[in-house]
Amino acid sequence: MPKEYVCVFCGSSDGADPAYLQAATHLGSLLAARGFGLVYGGASIGLMAAVANAALAGGAPVVGVLPAVIEGREVAHPALTELHLVGTMHERKALMAERADAFVALPGGFGTLDEFLEILTWAQLGIHRKPCVLVNTRGYFDGLLSFLDHAVRERFIQPRHRGAMEVVADANAALATLERLLCGPGDPGGPGGSAGPGGGPSDPSPSPATSSPTPGPPAP
Ligand code: AMP
Repeated sequence: MPKEYVCVFCGSSDGADPAYLQAATHLGSLLAARGFGLVYGGASIGLMAAVANAALAGGAPVVGVLPAVIEGREVAHPALTELHLVGTMHERKALMAERADAFVALPGGFGTLDEFLEILTWAQLGIHRKPCVLVNTRGYFDGLLSFLDHAVRERFIQPRHRGAMEVVADANAALATLERLLCGPGDPGGPGGSAGPGGGPSDPSPSPATSSPTPGPPAP
């Protein structure tokens, strides 16, 4: 039984370069190998399928959360450990956030951006203190990161909130970051060890920690 679950947001498409699918497969394999469980959107298409298949192949429990209204479009994965069919996109995001101890985004489209930016917004508001890691495969997110720097310069995003997102180049670095933030460097439990929900000891946010996606008080 995994001690921590990692929620992966990623594209329902394969992307133009095979490197995207490879990165998703690598991330799923590494999560399983390090003893993590996976939470994701529950679909059997695109990068979403790749990360889930690799995690399942490695023996990890995989929790899918799929809104019934899009079940026909994003066909539900047939072999998940748990499949939750929910009523709305909002319920999907809430359940994914509740079940996860950390969040990782791989390349994707509107859905991926929507999900990851909402999770970052919740972190900014102090609704959770769970690690948020962006995997910048082949520089896919370079434009987004430049825009966020622009938003900081224009004083619409505070530097400390910009810094709450960990940006890494590949799946190996994502796992190293997750283990550092969830377990801490001196955790005798090691990789996949328990740090409890609400972020790890190195989480710099001064916000109140809760593991619930229910809105709480804003950060000071
Ligand atoms: P995409 O990155 O556009 O390929 O979408 C990735 C996943 O995000 C798919 O499972 C979409 O159904 C999902 N998605 C898109 N919009 C939303 C939303 N507003 N809330 C939750 N999930 C979404």
